[in-house]
Amino acid sequence: MRIAIVGLGPKGLYGLERLLANLAEAEYPFPTEIHLFNKSDSFGAGEIYNPAQPSYLKMNYVNGYINMWPEQKPKPNVPHPKSFVEWLNERKDEFPNDSEYTFSSRATVGRYLSEGFNELLENCPEHISIFKHVGDVIGIEQNEDGYSVDCKVSDDNVPLRVNAIQNLLIATGHPCINDADLVAQDTHIDFIYPVDLRLKGISSGSKVAIKGMGLTFIDAVLALTEGRGGKFVADETGDLIYTKSGMEPEVLYPFSKSGMLMIPRGNTYGKSSLAPFYFNKESVEYSETLEGKYDFEHQLLPLIEQDFTVVYYSKLFSSKGLKLEVLKDYAEVEFQIENFHEQNPDLPRFDFYSFLEGTISDGELNKSTLEFIRMSIQEAERGVEESAFAAAADAWRHLSDLFNELYSFGGLKPQSQKTFLEKYAGHLNRISYGPPIENMKKIEAIAKAGLIDFSFSQNPEISYSSKTILSNNKEEKVSVDFLVDARVPKIQLHRCAGPLYSTLLEQNLIIPYVNRLEGRLDFRPGCLAINEKGNPLDETGWANETITFTGTPTEGLTYDNDSLSRQRNDFVSDWAKDLTKKILQEEPETQLRSNSI
Ligand SMILES: Cc1cc2nc3c(=O)[nH]c(=O)nc-3n(C[C@H](O)[C@H](O)[C@H](O)COP(=O)(O)OP(=O)(O)OC[C@H]3O[C@@H](n4cnc5c(N)ncnc54)[C@H](O)[C@@H]3O)c2cc1C
Repeated sequence: MRIAIVGLGPKGLYGLERLLANLAEAEYPFPTEIHLFNKSDSFGAGEIYNPAQPSYLKMNYVNGYINMWPEQKPKPNVPHPKSFVEWLNERKDEFPNDSEYTFSSRATVGRYLSEGFNELLENCPEHISIFKHVGDVIGIEQNEDGYSVDCKVSDDNVPLRVNAIQNLLIATGHPCINDADLVAQDTHIDFIYPVDLRLKGISSGSKVAIKGMGLTFIDAVLALTEGRGGKFVADETGDLIYTKSGMEPEVLYPFSKSGMLMIPRGNTYGKSSLAPFYFNKESVEYSETLEGKYDFEHQLLPLIEQDFTVVYYSKLFSSKGLKLEVLKDYAEVEFQIENFHEQNPDLPRFDFYSFLEGTISDGELNKSTLEFIRMSIQEAERGVEESAFAAAADAWRHLSDLFNELYSFGGLKPQSQKTFLEKYAGHLNRISYGPPIENMKKIEAIAKAGLIDFSFSQNPEISYSSKTILSNNKEEKVSVDFLVDARVPKIQLHRCAGPLYSTLLEQNLIIPYVNRLEGRLDFRPGCLAINEKGNPLDETGWANETITFTGTPTEGLTYDNDSLSRQRNDFVSDWAKDLTKKILQEEPETQLRSNSI
């Protein structure tokens, strides 16, 4: 049997790990070939955790959550599978201050992942041969021998072709293009990674607009400042002061639709949190669905709002030495909140929608954004156990498991899914999965040094002539030399599929997923149609079990793949188990055909 894994970032690595664990246990060790394809030689870590990237690019959650080895059977096929913290502890000389409660650089996590990858190769059973191919897979063709994979390994026009592949795992992660129309321009940087390469053309002293204000924005800012020799020093309170190197751009102008920055996070590992009380399976079961599909705004969001409110007020009550009684009848909770505000008229009320959307005054965007940064740092430093704001920001992490279950595989009505993605998903991401406090302090220090101006941050008008011009609602304009797209692209099969997915579409090996409900408008979230095992579906609903997708390409039918988590949307465990079973059922002589590579 010849198997291929396309994409060896974390999700491809997890697939390889499960496959080797299952094959190593097999009663009859049949010869098996596994071909691994990755764009770069960063096998196991991929680009996002590439060990060669600068150390100022940080994780957005603490070390305690990271473990590349699953706690499931069959056990990993290495002698001592180590969690990330165990791995760090073995290197105390190098990482003396790191623990489960601290944030590491993505490069360090990448080292952990790539060492895990190498360990898998070292312990690979003899009957399994593994081949690594560095290059861009530009096509997969189905033929009578199975599949042929074309991989562009060098700049010449002849790709490497591997034939007779019987089974494929596709784990290609994030695509690298945000806006295909603007890619060709030198003054437009469409995707920032790897930062050293992609941002090096931005000259010092230039004006730079940055589209997107999430984690990638922070990486872009750090690459253009700290990455160019700027230095931070801490003052006596622990806040940072930035000293310029002189190599930075003159000013960075971030912007997004909402103009809101993410909420920074302190350590949440090992901290107690309020379990979801209103948004739970039992209450959702009572909602009437249409063909099993929910309406997000009318059926799920009200329950989510109640849980956020309860989390917020539980902390606020306890800061006053009181206890909020969380009761089944939400009206009784509201009654307690009313009483509380009567006794504490100076305390502002919690409004879920304002919290979600964020509030900054659009009159003085720069000033109010800096105030928001300061406030959010202070609340994150108080932490989820003390701060009502930080606890509410953390609430979605605990609610999103159930939401993922309800959302996956067309669980929302088509237009409700569209509403969720356009109106809510970004905000939920913004409040819950923000950067470490240290990174937000860096943004604050860089802004105070005059290198970031938020005056155009809220949905500016953009016009393109010889230069890009941003205009805000005060009729101010700024003309910039470079426009950097600092958003993380999602798969958009109908807009720009890229070479690999285009060949799959052309052969009808995949089709775009359409969320349908009789009598309602359809919705296409951009991903491909798959079943619950990750196998692509055709128009008739037939599942092709010889191909499995995992990770970002499934986003839209699944939720929240932007994670190192092994548990969330785990397609690879079943893939490896089913495939091993299939290999064992096959006659030995049909194994490993002698087709050329
Ligand atoms: C900037 C950034 C920061 C992040 N930080 C965090 C974080 O702190 N914590 C967290 O949990 N998550 C974070 N994420 C989310 C991230 O998506 C996941 O953690 C994880 O990287 C997903 O793994 P993956 O294997 O699905 O995708 P990727 O990591 O994107 O890996 C995909 C791999 O496939 C390869 N590939 C793609 N196409 C081809 C092709 N055609 N041919 C050959 N190879 C191909 C790529 O080279 C890459 O190695 C971050 C994401 C980004 C973009």
